[in-house]
Amino acid sequence: MAQSFDVVVIGEGISGLTAAHALAQAGLRTATLEAQLFGGLVLNVNELDPAPDPSHSVSGAEIASELMQANADLGVQSIQEAATSIRDRGATKQITTAAATYEARQVVIASGARLKKLGVPGEAEYEGRGVSQCADCDGPMYQDETVVVVGGGDSALQEALVLAKYCGKVHIVHRGTAFRAQQHFVEQVNANPRIATVWNAQVKSIAGGQMVERVEIAHGDGKVEPIPCAGIFAYIGLAPNADFLPHEIERDGAGAIVTRDHLETSLAGVWAVGAVRSGYSGLLPDAVSEAKQAARAIVERLA
Ligand code: NAP
Repeated sequence: MAQSFDVVVIGEGISGLTAAHALAQAGLRTATLEAQLFGGLVLNVNELDPAPDPSHSVSGAEIASELMQANADLGVQSIQEAATSIRDRGATKQITTAAATYEARQVVIASGARLKKLGVPGEAEYEGRGVSQCADCDGPMYQDETVVVVGGGDSALQEALVLAKYCGKVHIVHRGTAFRAQQHFVEQVNANPRIATVWNAQVKSIAGGQMVERVEIAHGDGKVEPIPCAGIFAYIGLAPNADFLPHEIERDGAGAIVTRDHLETSLAGVWAVGAVRSGYSGLLPDAVSEAKQAARAIVERLA
């Protein structure tokens, strides 16, 4: 027989862990499902910016670990399986993984998003050999080297600043003519002598021998030129992890879940919070407040 819960939360990123915490605090039998390591997108951030408590810096892993521990203390069941489907059974929902089926009265989708890939020749081939999407993990390997960062949003600028602590030179290659990142990141990037920006340019390919040695970029006028470098980090936005969901759950053009009042989806009893949700700001405090908002609504619904 399927194991049954009041609420199953899909995803152990910050939004999922926060929702589960609030639900369990309200006395609901709650489980979290996670295929990978808990923590989600912030796991690879060594210094959250802005820090939740401005008096000291904290890593994404620390915040996530604290939440996991707090949830375990409250009796939240953490299940290390990937949700592969959700079925509407009227009063309950059935959540299937490769290993089991679970039943829940309500479901919170907090499956987050993944970093998009460039999709250019050489990217897959050089993965782990110069192609990376984790500046905090791999930055120390590029001591005094030249690297390329692609993108012009918060992620690209924040990660370029991390890389500039180690690398001799960081070239930000941006397809636009202005950044659309928070002002404090823009100011820090502009002030950093190790960071240079190539505007109005796109990466066309990644090449080298055993390891990455250069990327080819095309400028707006069509001119193509190589940038010699040892690494390339693409931060060109996020793709929601929503492919496993049934068609009854409305998605926007980018595949993110559309929510209604109190973050409920088009399927009653299924809620969405954080980076998987259409309209999410991308800011950690908003992921936390969305999770709390959905949890409050669920508690009311089940009262
Ligand atoms: P984003 O805000 O969507 O920015 C993506 C950037 O990549 C844009 O500059 C975009 O160019 C560029 N881009 C998109 N597709 C491209 C392609 N195919 N080739 C080249 N460039 C491409 O993504 P993000 O920076 O990952 O941020 C995601 C969300 O998380 C945002 O809401 C952000 O505010 C948030 N975030 C917050 C923090 C923080 O608070 N510390 C840190 C990181 C991220 P255009 O500008 O021309 O569209």
